[in-house]
Amino acid sequence: MITAPFEYHAPRTVPEAVKLLGELGEDAKLLAGGHSLLPMMKLRFAEPSHLIDLGRIDSLRGISQADGEIHIGAMTSENEIVNSKLLAEKLPLLVEGASLIADPQVRNKGTIGGDISHGDPGNDHPALMLALDASFVLTGPKGQRVVKADGYFLGLYSTLLEPGEILTQIRIPVPPAGTGTSYQKLKRKTGDYATAASAVVLQMKGDVVGQVRIGLTNVAATALRASAAEKALIGKPINDASLNEAARLAMSICEPMPDLRGDADYKTAMCGEMTRRALQIAHQRATRK
Ligand SMILES: Cc1cc2nc3c(=O)[nH]c(=O)nc-3n(C[C@H](O)[C@H](O)[C@H](O)COP(=O)(O)OP(=O)(O)OC[C@H]3O[C@@H](n4cnc5c(N)ncnc54)[C@H](O)[C@@H]3O)c2cc1C
Repeated sequence: MITAPFEYHAPRTVPEAVKLLGELGEDAKLLAGGHSLLPMMKLRFAEPSHLIDLGRIDSLRGISQADGEIHIGAMTSENEIVNSKLLAEKLPLLVEGASLIADPQVRNKGTIGGDISHGDPGNDHPALMLALDASFVLTGPKGQRVVKADGYFLGLYSTLLEPGEILTQIRIPVPPAGTGTSYQKLKRKTGDYATAASAVVLQMKGDVVGQVRIGLTNVAATALRASAAEKALIGKPINDASLNEAARLAMSICEPMPDLRGDADYKTAMCGEMTRRALQIAHQRATRK
């Protein structure tokens, strides 16, 4: 299958890309790694007349630390995340999550910015971003705005990104020492999207939970934050009773679409199990001496 014809543009700077996007309007699409957009174009689900390739804008790549935050350029590839020593030390959850995305070929080209922007509930970064309390820098004709991941994902292929804006950077606060994290993803085989997955960031206060954030993948039209489960865990020890209650509350917000990976009941049950496992492992990591 081949795509409908389109004109190709390769700006070298963000202002150039924003200008092009403004001039070409709704007929244009941004191209990052192309691993979601190009399949959609080949199937003719998307038929943009212009592609604006972000691949030659050097300022959109790279991982750095500034003021207690990790900054990641939107065009940073999954493999760059998987191989980053800084992320392995400061944000191991992101390394764990990115290494479970698709296969090495996809991870070589696919970008964190594209994964977040696509708004696909099967993508793994949205739930990781919710659990990590990330913020996104959106750059458009009126300048930059910074928005929280929590509230950014509106529905199927729908986010807060306005026409004319580009996601340029992802900012994630470095969790305090003693934080335990885990991403548990059930998938049928390498290269598949999650049947269900759960991302946990956990801090203990003595023997009880001090802080916890939980993000869920592919169990609704968009990534979900399991706020009721988080609330129920605060002040409780991690044991069978609290894990069962957290899993029950996570399952209570699931509305998965049935597909070849399973029916709604199965996916919901797997979300509960992934949440239980992610909490257990995050707890082990948080309390490791
Ligand atoms: C076989 C296969 C398996 C996969 N499995 C998984 C998986 O398990 N988990 C997972 O998370 N993903 C998976 N993916 C998707 C993959 O991670 C894609 O790379 C990702 O969804 C999109 O990133 P991209 O850089 O390729 O973006 P593109 O495909 O280039 O773009 C996707 C969309 O985002 C927009 N966009 C891109 N960058 C920006 C930006 N900076 N600002 C604003 N809009 C932008 C584009 O216009 C387009 O609409 C899989 C893909 C394939 C082909």
